[in-house]
Amino acid sequence: MLHFFFSFIIHYYIWILKNLENMTFNYLFGPIPSRRLGISLGVDLVPHKICNLNCVYCESGKTTLHTTVRKDYIPENSIITELNTYLKDNPKLDYITFSGAGEPTLHSGIGNILKFLKSNYPGYKTALITNSLLFENRDVRKEIKPFHLILPSLDAASQEVFQSINRPYKGILVSNIINGLIEFNKSYKGQLWLEYFVLPGLNDTDNELKLLKSAFQKIKPTKLQLNSLDRPGTVSGLVPASYERLVELKDFFQPIPTDIISRSDEVKHLDHLKQDIHFSILQAVSRRPCSINDLSQILSLSSTETKAHIDFLLELKEIREEVQNGVTFYCIP
Ligand code: SF4
Repeated sequence: MLHFFFSFIIHYYIWILKNLENMTFNYLFGPIPSRRLGISLGVDLVPHKICNLNCVYCESGKTTLHTTVRKDYIPENSIITELNTYLKDNPKLDYITFSGAGEPTLHSGIGNILKFLKSNYPGYKTALITNSLLFENRDVRKEIKPFHLILPSLDAASQEVFQSINRPYKGILVSNIINGLIEFNKSYKGQLWLEYFVLPGLNDTDNELKLLKSAFQKIKPTKLQLNSLDRPGTVSGLVPASYERLVELKDFFQPIPTDIISRSDEVKHLDHLKQDIHFSILQAVSRRPCSINDLSQILSLSSTETKAHIDFLLELKEIREEVQNGVTFYCIP
């Protein structure tokens, strides 16, 4: 039964990939199956990796342009043209998500791009993943209000911990960010899922937790989401929070509605995780043939684990092998 279910999902995904194979997009990615957002089409508003933070846990590597300057990093029209091309056939999506390897609110056209979607594709739900820094800016707060769902993050409430974990652009105060989030959510009509990325020993001391809880209670998110390390960050030696620790923190933050979204939680959702991995493999090989090393880097899994997933897809004949110069590559049949 499970086998049939995987096979159905995979065939559906291949159908999506095949229908899109003649199009190339520079600023759209996916659609990817996401635990939080279902089938989500990603929109990259800034080139890799322009950010106003340089978080120690960032999975996208070091910030290459550390800035608070808002501008048209990618021409607004180029992004709108790609969205038009992609959406004109009404693909089935749960969300169009503004995110990427950088901070999307740094794009000065974010409000206009959102307006374009609202006017031309009102049936789609929109989401924004942001590091919250620009919530202190009144214009940004106004521009992002039309999103259906916003997923901001707040990992520290004291300036000292904020500096050490998030390593902001100089002069940014975490108190202003917290005030911006409070102000924004007073009149925001959508859902606000606030993420707290837990780094044991760094931002979960008794004092920091007390300050964070007080900030969360003032911000009043729809829900709080506890996350921790899945993959290596930019700084070595960071350790993930255990599932037990996340459960403790969830209790601590009561009565704020809180979910655990770290992968530790996925021990209970292994089947779901497998699906994500299979989708990711299919997506990667649909773009270009990939070796085990390529896939294991993309998935952040060991080559043994990666091989087990590849064997599963080979058995289903959803991918095929091709040997070039002695190296085995995997491709779409
Ligand atoms: S805000 Fe996001 S993209 Fe920017 S450094 Fe932190 S984790 Fe990376």
